Amino acid sequence: MKHKNTPSPLQQRFLKKLLPLWPALKGSLAQVRKPCIRPNCRACALGDKHLNYLLAFTHKGRRRCLYVPRAMVQVLKRALENGRRIEQLLYEMGPILLREYRAQNPAQTGPAMQVKHKKTHPKS
Ligand SMILES: [Zn+2]
Repeated sequence: MKHKNTPSPLQQRFLKKLLPLWPALKGSLAQVRKPCIRPNCRACALGDKHLNYLLAFTHKGRRRCLYVPRAMVQVLKRALENGRRIEQLLYEMGPILLREYRAQNPAQTGPAMQVKHKKTHPKS
């Protein structure tokens, strides 16, 4: 039997793939143009306003938005991309886990089970 604190090879492979995918998040980055609070701003007077980034995400089922400082925009873009990669990894896990189970338990699936059945209950 496996020990609880000894990760399986599959678990180790999974963790190894996860580690470089930090930072990671789920949500979406939106660009908005907003006026600033400076009294004599040229950009605002011309109607150009200012480009700001917002991060939209869901928290406990509710849609939320947070202002994103300019210095964090590239970091968050990378985190979003990493989040998509992690999601892809998770989608791949179901088939891998089932394939691994079948490889370790051949007697309980398909043709092998029929053979076992015939052996225990011979018809002739
Ligand atoms: Zn302004």
